[in-house]
Amino acid sequence: MNHSPLFYQAGTALPEVSHADGVRLWDAHGHEYLDGCAGAIACNLGHGRRDIRDAMLAQLDRVAFTYRTQFENAPAVALGRALVELTAGQLDKVFFVSSGSEAVESALKLARQYFVARGETQRRRFVSLRPSYHGSTLGALGVTGYRPLEAAFDALITASLKVAGPDFYRHGDADDASHVDRVLAETRQAIEAAGPESIVAFVLEPIGGASTGARVLGQRYLQGIRALCDEFGCLLILDEVLTGVGRTGDWFAYQHYAITPDLLATAKGLGAGYYPVGALLARTDIVDAVMAAGGFQHGHTYAGNPLACATGLAVIEAMQRENVLDNVAARGRELEAGLAVLQARFPWLGDVRGRGLLWGVELVADPDTKAPFPAEENRFARITALARAEGLLIYPRRTLDGVAGDHFLVAPPLTIGADDTAELLERLSRALVRFDREVA
Ligand code: PLP
Repeated sequence: MNHSPLFYQAGTALPEVSHADGVRLWDAHGHEYLDGCAGAIACNLGHGRRDIRDAMLAQLDRVAFTYRTQFENAPAVALGRALVELTAGQLDKVFFVSSGSEAVESALKLARQYFVARGETQRRRFVSLRPSYHGSTLGALGVTGYRPLEAAFDALITASLKVAGPDFYRHGDADDASHVDRVLAETRQAIEAAGPESIVAFVLEPIGGASTGARVLGQRYLQGIRALCDEFGCLLILDEVLTGVGRTGDWFAYQHYAITPDLLATAKGLGAGYYPVGALLARTDIVDAVMAAGGFQHGHTYAGNPLACATGLAVIEAMQRENVLDNVAARGRELEAGLAVLQARFPWLGDVRGRGLLWGVELVADPDTKAPFPAEENRFARITALARAEGLLIYPRRTLDGVAGDHFLVAPPLTIGADDTAELLERLSRALVRFDREVA
């Protein structure tokens, strides 16, 4: 009988965490776990970093909290400047928040306010992908395409226009390029039917997270969406809550694809698990228009507080000092190669996709037809439990909207070493052998 007052998830009780160091955590019984998914793809520098701790303590000793409309604070300005620099100045205004949902919510509201300021008040609808995940507040949920999360709130949310993104694993088109062209043509039709003049912005994750199992959308598609936004006069909002701050091998995932968003939401890795901090990055002219019309009607109490921003700054400085992006590239190649070996060994590992240190693995009941396992078998939960029994944490996701099968993410801290990457693959392989015995 579990007497905990907490209610985060139905099902089995969780082990109590004791402590953590680097890419490892220990529970209260002394069991050790290798963190193969950086918690919720957030703990990007691993656990127990003295440098982050020291920066946080130094800030705590000066001042932990000030309110953003009463004082400017040096860590916030410095972190803002650092983020702008990471975009090479393409996005040069920053609004701080405390979570990914808040960052997305802020992007939606700034985009709408921009068009109100310009007198284009008929622009009131967003376009986004199904499946997708953009957060759990009602605005972010409105653009999220994930039925289990949406269902209870249909009457409360303003749902976006949902369109399908490219699916390079299952499409039946002649080749990837013609698949993307078809998806873009269908998206154009959907927007034209809804009325392009009613659209505020297109919202998407440049590389999917948990919602799609790291589905990679690719340059042709993203450039096509950028062109559609330009043609229809709406904004492009990229949700880089999960992919931002180095996860996919560049500072932001969009930088792989020669496009520039108008607004960008980021969070998770910015605080790297040490303190909640997220940010909305925006083009100056968008912010200027909103400020000239009376200011951004939005904000949260903890937004941009000194302790949060000192933490984010320490994270970025550590990443720059240690060339963490080089490590993401090297370890990413090892992970990709290791997952390819496992895929060749286990036919039910239907698809492996991703970039940098964000990899999605999709399970299929039948590799020839790519049919998923029946949803009620909860294979995603089983494989996660087997990995845990082998001392490995992976991030599970169930079949969404019948679009993709069960899958899991492998996304360790960006600082993981070569030996631990090999150990991660070894533990995963042992879990997969056990899973294979069950499905055979
Ligand atoms: N957007 C994406 C792509 C995410 O992966 C998440 C969280 O998983 C969110 C938004 C919401 O972020 P948070 O849980 O910090 O509110």
